[in-house]
Amino acid sequence: MKHSLDILPLSSWIDTNGKPLIIAGPCSAETEEQLVSTAHLLANTGKVNVLRAGIWKPRTRPGEFEGIGSIGLEWLKRAKEETGLLTATEVATAQHVKEALAAGVDVLWVGARSTANPFTVQEIADAIQESGVDIPVLIKNPVNPDLSLWLGAIERINRAGIKKIGAIHRGFSSYEKTAFRNEPMWDLAIQLKTIAPELPLINDPSHICGNRELIPYVTQKALDMDMQGLIIESHIDPSVAWTDAKQQVTPAALADLLDSVNVRKAES
Ligand code: PEP
Ligand code: MN
Repeated sequence: MKHSLDILPLSSWIDTNGKPLIIAGPCSAETEEQLVSTAHLLANTGKVNVLRAGIWKPRTRPGEFEGIGSIGLEWLKRAKEETGLLTATEVATAQHVKEALAAGVDVLWVGARSTANPFTVQEIADAIQESGVDIPVLIKNPVNPDLSLWLGAIERINRAGIKKIGAIHRGFSSYEKTAFRNEPMWDLAIQLKTIAPELPLINDPSHICGNRELIPYVTQKALDMDMQGLIIESHIDPSVAWTDAKQQVTPAALADLLDSVNVRKAES
């Protein structure tokens, strides 16, 4: 598959001290207290580079919690001021881009449902280009196992002049129900890496697994494939999380996980 990407290496836009980039935080910003206290615990682990939190939540079906909205950007700002962590949130419209940039969010990501829609990706790309802000953008794989759609979204963002781009591997929807919430289909990530070796790949074990138990296995596998980063959902009290409760881990569990995977990798 031909492509023409102009991508900057991850190390040129974020200093991770030679280690994988670690993005962690709750699936959703729920309350100011939940977000800020989770951020403090994550920062205190000394292992997290970027705080993630969904402000606008794309839900498969209506009637569920659809995100706290713009007010959450103020909470992200406070979390950043108090902890020094960079911040990241999902954007799905030009308005989201405008608000996130105005609030000083450091990294934007395009969600799996948005990546599947070229109009949406183009709208996001245009909004960032119009803003003139040089912000990193991470692009999740589309929900369906379509490599062209994933690469196409990356190209659209890149053509808008954005060179700080990463691809997030979050697994793919499949009709067959397996142990995973979203099938990893590792081959597709490998193919993307082969097509565009310069593109940083970040693994999202939380959305691949859909449960806490499988996360160490997937995390290790991603590291063994030399993926350059991880995005892992972490909540101060996962059992009461408003979204994705089964797959979130406490900041302490995240620190243990990162210790154990590094040790296993070093031994192998
Ligand atoms: C999320 O990161 O919480 C999310 C909604 O992910 P995805 O777009 O991968 O489903
Ligand atoms: Mn989630």
